[in-house]
Amino acid sequence: MTRPLAQIVSLNAPAAGDASRNLFGLSREELTELFRTLGEPAFRGRQAAEAIYAQRLTDLSSITTLPQPLRQRLAEAGWRIERPRIAQTFRSADGTERYLIACPGTKAETVETVWMPEGDGGETDEDEAGEQGAIPTRTRATICVSSQIGCAVGCGFCLTARLGLERSLSAGEIAGQVIEVLDRHKADTARDRINLVFMGMGEPFLNYDSFMVAVRMLVAEAGLSPQRMTVSTSGIVPGIERFATEPAAFRPRLAISLNAPNNQVREALMPINRKWPIEAVVDAVRKIPLRRRERVTFEYVLLAGVTDRLNDARELARLIRRTGLPAKVNLIAWNSGPGIAYQTPAPESVELFKQELIDGGIPVYLRKPRGRDIYAACGQLKRTVER
Ligand code: SAH
Ligand code: SF4
Repeated sequence: MTRPLAQIVSLNAPAAGDASRNLFGLSREELTELFRTLGEPAFRGRQAAEAIYAQRLTDLSSITTLPQPLRQRLAEAGWRIERPRIAQTFRSADGTERYLIACPGTKAETVETVWMPEGDGGETDEDEAGEQGAIPTRTRATICVSSQIGCAVGCGFCLTARLGLERSLSAGEIAGQVIEVLDRHKADTARDRINLVFMGMGEPFLNYDSFMVAVRMLVAEAGLSPQRMTVSTSGIVPGIERFATEPAAFRPRLAISLNAPNNQVREALMPINRKWPIEAVVDAVRKIPLRRRERVTFEYVLLAGVTDRLNDARELARLIRRTGLPAKVNLIAWNSGPGIAYQTPAPESVELFKQELIDGGIPVYLRKPRGRDIYAACGQLKRTVER
């Protein structure tokens, strides 16, 4: 999972814009190794990681925990802290913000990240996060993070799918979205209640290593809790199986984009179902040693006349009961996108669907659409620039 250190520790004069001289994106272990090669004690790695990810400093010369001569040596060797930067902000009437974030060292490439004050109603369980009796916090928000630019999975209802896969993001580009947005809102991870959802552009489990390096960085260095992080997958079985082996201290919660009550409908919406049908996905999910009171989320996009009928709700409830998993359903009324020929269901049919699941004994949350007016809602991320 760590990158070849030879690449990052060579002290030869760097080429202009040499991405290998960026301290941002290096893990604490990699920073420690860099300092070791410079003849510095191991704790310098911790100091640098703290400065970059917790204090969110972007200027080498302001890391006062490192001795001045060392800062100078690093700067002279071409090292710098270049983190992804917000290039454009779109603000929704509901307070949601969508950002185009520029990745350093790339040609005008941007990735999308969304900030939702107060969350979207589906990503946290108060009981799981141990909120009861907690001191009131200042900021409550959810950050929706991208793992790739575009997506290769090709779900028929998703706007990101239309981009195809441009490329996967590095760990620094994934964690960098979070650090940059936390910085914009002056968030304090010890005081504020920040949730992360890896539900932006891309399929996190098709960029597994970078995704997990970013998670470890955000937990270990930025002070975010894995229990307040949720990763959503379309059902990449080998990815889920690897995820099941991650230690609980660094394992986000899992959401599966189910989106259909049976394989036949799912296959029509999500071509990935031909490779890994529902049973295979569920078997992989069973391998995860869930924490006490942890539940797996099944996301379900409601498409009018396709997946939103009461029969579908009954079939879905049966399917979920049969898995025997501690589960909940996160309903998402479909968010429209140009050129996609589905319909958003009427609020009444969404309510009936929800009630049918409740009657079937399934815990269910209805995800509030956030920032639809700025193309920030689920499945709408496609680098849309117009408002
Ligand atoms: N690729 C991952 C994570 C990103 S998509 C995945 O598919 O799980 C996050 C969620 O948005 C998924 O549950 C997906 O089903 C849902 N989604 C995609 N397009 C949507 C749309 N147009 N309206 C509502 N939800 C959508
Ligand atoms: Fe990719 Fe998720 Fe969109 Fe499917 S729903 S195309 S997996 S981003």
